Amino acid sequence: MSAPYTTLPEFKYVKPTSLEEAIRLLKENEGNAKIMNGGIGLIGFMKERLLEAELVVDIKGIKELKKIEYLPGKGLLVGATVTGTEMIEFFEKNPDLREKFRAFYEAASHMADAILRNRASIVGNILEGLPYVDMPGPAVLFDAEVHAVGPNGERWIPVDGLVLGPAMTKLEPYEIVTEILYKEPPKGSRSAYVKLQSRSEYGIVNISALVANPNSFANREVRVVVTSATQLPFRARSLEQHFKQPGKIEDLLDEGVEKMVNELDVIEDPYATAEFRKYLIKILTIKTIKSLLSR
Ligand SMILES: Cc1cc2nc3c(=O)[nH]c(=O)nc-3n(C[C@H](O)[C@H](O)[C@H](O)COP(=O)(O)OP(=O)(O)OC[C@H]3O[C@@H](n4cnc5c(N)ncnc54)[C@H](O)[C@@H]3O)c2cc1C
Repeated sequence: MSAPYTTLPEFKYVKPTSLEEAIRLLKENEGNAKIMNGGIGLIGFMKERLLEAELVVDIKGIKELKKIEYLPGKGLLVGATVTGTEMIEFFEKNPDLREKFRAFYEAASHMADAILRNRASIVGNILEGLPYVDMPGPAVLFDAEVHAVGPNGERWIPVDGLVLGPAMTKLEPYEIVTEILYKEPPKGSRSAYVKLQSRSEYGIVNISALVANPNSFANREVRVVVTSATQLPFRARSLEQHFKQPGKIEDLLDEGVEKMVNELDVIEDPYATAEFRKYLIKILTIKTIKSLLSR
Protein backbone atom coordinates (compact mmCIF):
# COMPACT_ATOMS: atom_id res chain seq x y z
CA MET A 1 0.00 0.00 0.00
CA SER A 2 1.42 3.43 -0.82
CA ALA A 3 0.48 6.62 1.02
CA PRO A 4 0.84 10.27 0.02
CA TYR A 5 2.40 11.17 3.40
CA THR A 6 6.10 10.87 4.17
CA THR A 7 6.31 13.03 7.29
CA LEU A 8 5.00 12.53 10.79
CA PRO A 9 2.27 14.75 12.21
CA GLU A 10 3.21 16.61 15.41
CA PHE A 11 2.84 14.80 18.72
CA LYS A 12 4.20 14.85 22.28
CA TYR A 13 6.60 12.09 23.28
CA VAL A 14 7.06 10.74 26.81
CA LYS A 15 9.21 7.92 28.13
CA PRO A 16 7.97 6.89 31.59
CA THR A 17 10.14 4.64 33.77
CA SER A 18 7.34 2.89 35.66
CA LEU A 19 4.25 0.97 34.61
CA GLU A 20 2.05 3.01 36.96
CA GLU A 21 3.19 6.26 35.33
CA ALA A 22 2.59 4.87 31.83
CA ILE A 23 -0.94 3.69 32.73
CA ARG A 24 -1.71 7.07 34.36
CA LEU A 25 -0.59 8.92 31.20
CA LEU A 26 -2.69 6.66 28.98
CA LYS A 27 -5.75 7.06 31.20
CA GLU A 28 -5.40 10.86 31.45
CA ASN A 29 -5.10 11.11 27.66
CA GLU A 30 -7.62 8.39 26.86
CA GLY A 31 -8.24 8.10 23.13
CA ASN A 32 -5.41 10.55 22.29
CA ALA A 33 -2.42 8.51 23.44
CA LYS A 34 -0.69 5.54 21.83
CA ILE A 35 1.83 3.08 23.19
CA MET A 36 5.17 2.87 21.40
CA ASN A 37 7.28 -0.27 21.70
CA GLY A 38 9.89 -0.66 18.95
CA GLY A 39 7.85 1.96 17.09
CA ILE A 40 8.26 0.42 13.66
CA GLY A 41 4.58 -0.31 13.13
CA LEU A 42 3.29 2.68 15.10
CA ILE A 43 5.41 5.30 13.33
CA GLY A 44 4.56 3.79 9.94
CA PHE A 45 0.83 3.91 10.74
CA MET A 46 1.14 7.53 11.93
CA LYS A 47 3.03 8.56 8.80
CA GLU A 48 0.31 7.01 6.67
CA ARG A 49 -2.35 8.76 8.81
CA LEU A 50 -3.88 5.37 9.67
CA LEU A 51 -3.38 6.13 13.39
CA GLU A 52 -3.47 9.46 15.22
CA ALA A 53 -1.87 10.30 18.55
CA GLU A 54 -1.38 13.57 20.45
CA LEU A 55 0.79 11.71 22.94
CA VAL A 56 3.15 8.80 22.26
CA VAL A 57 4.04 6.80 25.38
CA ASP A 58 7.34 4.96 24.83
CA ILE A 59 7.37 1.92 27.15
CA LYS A 60 11.00 0.93 26.54
CA GLY A 61 12.14 2.78 29.69
CA ILE A 62 10.11 0.44 31.94
CA LYS A 63 12.72 -2.06 33.13
CA GLU A 64 10.30 -4.76 34.32
CA LEU A 65 9.03 -5.27 30.76
CA LYS A 66 12.44 -6.53 29.63
CA LYS A 67 12.62 -10.14 30.82
CA ILE A 68 12.61 -13.70 29.53
CA GLU A 69 11.88 -16.40 32.07
CA TYR A 70 11.15 -20.12 31.72
CA LEU A 71 8.60 -21.39 34.25
CA PRO A 72 8.81 -25.23 34.23
CA GLY A 73 5.41 -26.78 33.54
CA LYS A 74 3.86 -23.39 32.73
CA GLY A 75 5.82 -22.08 29.78
CA LEU A 76 8.02 -19.28 28.52
CA LEU A 77 7.31 -15.79 29.79
CA VAL A 78 8.51 -13.00 27.49
CA GLY A 79 8.43 -9.35 28.55
CA ALA A 80 6.62 -6.85 26.32
CA THR A 81 9.72 -4.99 25.15
CA VAL A 82 11.87 -8.04 24.32
CA THR A 83 13.07 -7.69 20.72
CA GLY A 84 13.46 -10.31 18.02
CA THR A 85 17.25 -10.23 18.42
CA GLU A 86 17.06 -10.69 22.21
CA MET A 87 14.70 -13.64 21.74
CA ILE A 88 17.01 -15.34 19.23
CA GLU A 89 20.04 -14.79 21.52
CA PHE A 90 18.11 -16.29 24.44
CA PHE A 91 17.21 -19.41 22.43
CA GLU A 92 20.79 -19.79 21.19
CA LYS A 93 22.02 -19.79 24.82
CA ASN A 94 19.26 -22.26 25.84
CA PRO A 95 19.21 -25.09 23.26
CA ASP A 96 16.71 -27.21 25.25
CA LEU A 97 14.18 -24.37 25.23
CA ARG A 98 14.96 -23.65 21.58
CA GLU A 99 13.89 -27.23 20.78
CA LYS A 100 10.83 -27.04 23.03
CA PHE A 101 9.65 -23.82 21.36
CA ARG A 102 11.30 -24.45 17.98
CA ALA A 103 8.54 -22.82 15.87
CA PHE A 104 8.90 -19.62 17.94
CA TYR A 105 12.68 -19.57 17.46
CA GLU A 106 12.36 -20.17 13.71
CA ALA A 107 9.72 -17.45 13.32
CA ALA A 108 11.81 -14.93 15.31
CA SER A 109 14.77 -15.71 13.02
CA HIS A 110 12.55 -14.91 10.01
CA MET A 111 11.10 -11.67 11.37
CA ALA A 112 12.15 -8.96 8.88
CA ASP A 113 15.93 -8.35 8.78
CA ALA A 114 18.65 -8.08 11.43
CA ILE A 115 18.36 -4.27 11.73
CA LEU A 116 14.58 -4.36 12.26
CA ARG A 117 14.88 -7.32 14.66
CA ASN A 118 17.17 -5.21 16.87
CA ARG A 119 14.25 -2.88 17.47
CA ALA A 120 11.00 -4.74 16.75
CA SER A 121 9.44 -6.39 19.79
CA ILE A 122 7.70 -9.76 19.82
CA VAL A 123 4.62 -8.25 21.49
CA GLY A 124 4.49 -5.18 19.18
CA ASN A 125 4.69 -7.50 16.18
CA ILE A 126 1.59 -9.37 17.37
CA LEU A 127 -0.38 -6.27 18.41
CA GLU A 128 0.40 -4.46 15.15
CA GLY A 129 -2.26 -6.77 13.71
CA LEU A 130 -0.92 -7.03 10.16
CA PRO A 131 -1.77 -10.31 8.45
CA TYR A 132 1.76 -10.83 7.12
CA VAL A 133 3.84 -10.65 10.31
CA ASP A 134 5.72 -13.60 11.78
CA MET A 135 5.10 -13.60 15.53
CA PRO A 136 1.34 -14.37 15.75
CA GLY A 137 1.62 -17.90 14.25
CA PRO A 138 3.79 -19.48 16.95
CA ALA A 139 1.97 -17.51 19.68
CA VAL A 140 -1.33 -19.13 18.64
CA LEU A 141 0.42 -22.49 18.16
CA PHE A 142 1.68 -22.46 21.78
CA ASP A 143 -1.67 -21.20 23.17
CA ALA A 144 0.04 -17.99 24.28
CA GLU A 145 -1.73 -15.44 26.46
CA VAL A 146 -0.86 -11.80 27.03
CA HIS A 147 -0.94 -10.17 30.46
CA ALA A 148 -2.66 -6.78 30.22
CA VAL A 149 -2.54 -4.20 33.02
CA GLY A 150 -4.67 -1.07 33.26
CA PRO A 151 -6.19 1.32 35.81
CA ASN A 152 -8.96 -1.20 36.56
CA GLY A 153 -6.68 -4.17 37.22
CA GLU A 154 -5.07 -6.92 35.24
CA ARG A 155 -6.17 -9.81 33.01
CA TRP A 156 -4.81 -12.60 30.82
CA ILE A 157 -6.09 -12.73 27.22
CA PRO A 158 -5.46 -15.56 24.71
CA VAL A 159 -3.57 -14.36 21.61
CA ASP A 160 -5.98 -16.41 19.48
CA GLY A 161 -8.78 -13.87 18.97
CA LEU A 162 -6.95 -10.89 20.53
CA VAL A 163 -6.27 -9.09 17.24
CA LEU A 164 -9.19 -7.72 15.23
CA GLY A 165 -7.27 -6.11 12.33
CA PRO A 166 -4.37 -3.68 11.67
CA ALA A 167 -3.67 -1.80 14.97
CA MET A 168 -7.02 -3.08 16.33
CA THR A 169 -7.17 -5.40 19.33
CA LYS A 170 -9.50 -6.33 22.17
CA LEU A 171 -7.28 -4.28 24.54
CA GLU A 172 -8.65 -1.10 26.12
CA PRO A 173 -6.76 2.04 24.96
CA TYR A 174 -5.25 2.45 28.46
CA GLU A 175 -4.20 -1.20 28.90
CA ILE A 176 -0.54 -2.15 28.53
CA VAL A 177 0.59 -5.66 27.70
CA THR A 178 3.37 -6.39 30.17
CA GLU A 179 4.30 -9.92 29.09
CA ILE A 180 3.28 -12.89 27.00
CA LEU A 181 3.24 -16.51 28.18
CA TYR A 182 3.92 -19.24 25.60
CA LYS A 183 2.37 -22.30 27.23
CA GLU A 184 4.42 -25.43 27.83
CA PRO A 185 3.94 -27.69 24.78
CA PRO A 186 3.01 -31.38 25.22
CA LYS A 187 5.94 -33.55 26.35
CA GLY A 188 8.07 -34.81 23.47
CA SER A 189 6.45 -32.51 20.93
CA ARG A 190 8.26 -31.07 17.91
CA SER A 191 7.35 -27.90 16.10
CA ALA A 192 8.38 -25.90 13.05
CA TYR A 193 7.75 -22.59 11.29
CA VAL A 194 7.84 -22.36 7.52
CA LYS A 195 7.74 -19.01 5.73
CA LEU A 196 7.34 -18.68 2.00
CA GLN A 197 8.28 -15.26 0.61
CA SER A 198 7.88 -13.65 -2.76
CA ARG A 199 9.52 -10.30 -3.64
CA SER A 200 9.14 -9.02 -0.06
CA GLU A 201 10.41 -9.69 3.49
CA TYR A 202 6.84 -10.65 4.36
CA GLY A 203 5.61 -14.18 3.73
CA ILE A 204 2.77 -15.02 1.36
CA VAL A 205 2.08 -18.18 3.35
CA ASN A 206 3.42 -18.96 6.83
CA ILE A 207 2.75 -22.31 8.51
CA SER A 208 3.33 -23.02 12.22
CA ALA A 209 2.94 -26.69 13.12
CA LEU A 210 3.37 -28.99 16.10
CA VAL A 211 3.21 -32.77 16.43
CA ALA A 212 3.21 -34.67 19.74
CA ASN A 213 3.17 -38.42 20.43
CA PRO A 214 2.47 -39.39 16.79
CA ASN A 215 2.59 -43.12 17.57
CA SER A 216 0.17 -43.06 20.48
CA PHE A 217 -3.37 -42.80 19.16
CA ALA A 218 -4.77 -41.85 22.58
CA ASN A 219 -2.25 -39.06 23.26
CA ARG A 220 -1.30 -37.74 19.88
CA GLU A 221 -1.74 -34.10 18.98
CA VAL A 222 -1.29 -32.20 15.72
CA ARG A 223 -1.62 -28.42 15.61
CA VAL A 224 -1.45 -26.12 12.57
CA VAL A 225 -1.71 -22.33 12.38
CA VAL A 226 -1.91 -20.56 9.02
CA THR A 227 -0.77 -16.92 8.84
CA SER A 228 0.10 -14.44 6.07
CA ALA A 229 -2.54 -16.03 3.83
CA THR A 230 -5.53 -15.00 5.96
CA GLN A 231 -6.38 -11.62 7.53
CA LEU A 232 -6.09 -13.08 11.04
CA PRO A 233 -4.15 -16.10 12.33
CA PHE A 234 -6.10 -19.29 11.60
CA ARG A 235 -5.72 -22.18 14.05
CA ALA A 236 -6.96 -25.27 12.23
CA ARG A 237 -9.13 -26.71 15.01
CA SER A 238 -11.08 -29.03 12.69
CA LEU A 239 -7.79 -30.49 11.43
CA GLU A 240 -6.77 -31.15 15.04
CA GLN A 241 -10.07 -33.04 15.50
CA HIS A 242 -9.53 -34.91 12.23
CA PHE A 243 -6.46 -36.61 13.75
CA LYS A 244 -8.51 -37.83 16.73
CA GLN A 245 -10.03 -40.54 14.49
CA PRO A 246 -8.32 -43.94 14.17
CA GLY A 247 -5.63 -44.34 11.53
CA LYS A 248 -2.04 -43.25 11.02
CA ILE A 249 -1.36 -39.50 10.76
CA GLU A 250 0.30 -40.05 7.35
CA ASP A 251 -2.87 -41.74 6.04
CA LEU A 252 -5.23 -39.03 7.35
CA LEU A 253 -3.09 -36.09 6.31
CA ASP A 254 -4.13 -35.36 2.70
CA GLU A 255 -7.88 -35.52 3.37
CA GLY A 256 -7.61 -33.41 6.55
CA VAL A 257 -5.51 -30.69 4.92
CA GLU A 258 -7.81 -30.57 1.88
CA LYS A 259 -10.79 -29.92 4.22
CA MET A 260 -8.81 -27.30 6.17
CA VAL A 261 -7.96 -25.36 3.00
CA ASN A 262 -11.63 -25.25 2.03
CA GLU A 263 -12.47 -23.58 5.37
CA LEU A 264 -10.04 -20.71 4.78
CA ASP A 265 -10.92 -17.22 3.65
CA VAL A 266 -7.69 -16.50 1.81
CA ILE A 267 -6.10 -13.13 0.94
CA GLU A 268 -5.72 -12.10 -2.69
CA ASP A 269 -3.10 -9.38 -3.35
CA PRO A 270 -0.43 -8.41 -5.91
CA TYR A 271 1.96 -10.97 -4.39
CA ALA A 272 -0.27 -14.05 -4.88
CA THR A 273 -3.75 -15.03 -5.93
CA ALA A 274 -6.04 -16.73 -3.43
CA GLU A 275 -5.92 -19.90 -5.53
CA PHE A 276 -2.09 -20.00 -5.49
CA ARG A 277 -2.04 -19.33 -1.75
CA LYS A 278 -4.45 -22.24 -1.16
CA TYR A 279 -2.20 -24.52 -3.19
CA LEU A 280 0.84 -23.39 -1.18
CA ILE A 281 -0.96 -23.84 2.15
CA LYS A 282 -1.81 -27.40 1.18
CA ILE A 283 1.65 -28.51 0.13
CA LEU A 284 3.49 -26.62 2.89
CA THR A 285 1.23 -28.02 5.64
CA ILE A 286 1.62 -31.59 4.40
CA LYS A 287 5.38 -31.18 3.97
CA THR A 288 5.84 -29.59 7.39
CA ILE A 289 3.85 -32.26 9.24
CA LYS A 290 5.68 -35.04 7.38
CA SER A 291 9.02 -33.48 8.29
CA LEU A 292 7.98 -33.29 11.97
CA LEU A 293 6.94 -36.96 11.88
CA SER A 294 10.36 -38.00 10.61
CA ARG A 295 12.41 -35.75 12.95
C1 LIG B 1 10.71 -2.77 5.74
C2 LIG B 1 9.96 -3.59 6.74
C3 LIG B 1 9.96 -4.99 6.63
C4 LIG B 1 9.30 -5.77 7.56
N1 LIG B 1 9.34 -7.13 7.42
C5 LIG B 1 8.73 -7.90 8.36
C6 LIG B 1 8.79 -9.32 8.29
O1 LIG B 1 9.38 -9.93 7.41
N2 LIG B 1 8.17 -10.02 9.27
C7 LIG B 1 7.51 -9.42 10.29
O2 LIG B 1 6.99 -10.12 11.15
N3 LIG B 1 7.42 -8.09 10.38
C8 LIG B 1 8.02 -7.33 9.44
N4 LIG B 1 7.95 -5.97 9.54
C9 LIG B 1 7.10 -5.39 10.57
C10 LIG B 1 7.84 -5.15 11.87
O3 LIG B 1 8.48 -6.33 12.29
C11 LIG B 1 6.81 -4.72 12.89
O4 LIG B 1 6.40 -3.42 12.53
C12 LIG B 1 7.34 -4.72 14.30
O5 LIG B 1 7.62 -6.04 14.70
C13 LIG B 1 6.33 -4.13 15.26
O6 LIG B 1 6.87 -4.21 16.57
P1 LIG B 1 7.24 -2.87 17.36
O7 LIG B 1 7.91 -3.30 18.64
O8 LIG B 1 7.99 -1.93 16.51
O9 LIG B 1 5.76 -2.36 17.70
P2 LIG B 1 5.19 -0.88 17.68
O10 LIG B 1 5.22 -0.33 16.33
O11 LIG B 1 5.80 -0.07 18.75
O12 LIG B 1 3.68 -1.21 18.12
C14 LIG B 1 2.78 -1.84 17.23
C15 LIG B 1 1.35 -1.67 17.78
O13 LIG B 1 1.19 -2.36 19.01
C16 LIG B 1 0.88 -1.46 20.09
N5 LIG B 1 1.69 -1.94 21.23
C17 LIG B 1 3.02 -2.25 21.20
N6 LIG B 1 3.39 -2.73 22.40
C18 LIG B 1 2.30 -2.71 23.19
C19 LIG B 1 2.07 -3.09 24.55
N7 LIG B 1 3.04 -3.58 25.30
N8 LIG B 1 0.82 -2.95 25.06
C20 LIG B 1 -0.21 -2.48 24.29
N9 LIG B 1 -0.04 -2.09 22.99
C21 LIG B 1 1.20 -2.20 22.46
C22 LIG B 1 1.27 -0.08 19.59
O14 LIG B 1 0.49 0.94 20.19
C23 LIG B 1 1.01 -0.21 18.10
O15 LIG B 1 -0.36 -0.03 17.81
C24 LIG B 1 8.60 -5.15 8.62
C25 LIG B 1 8.60 -3.77 8.76
C26 LIG B 1 9.26 -2.98 7.82
C27 LIG B 1 9.26 -1.49 7.99
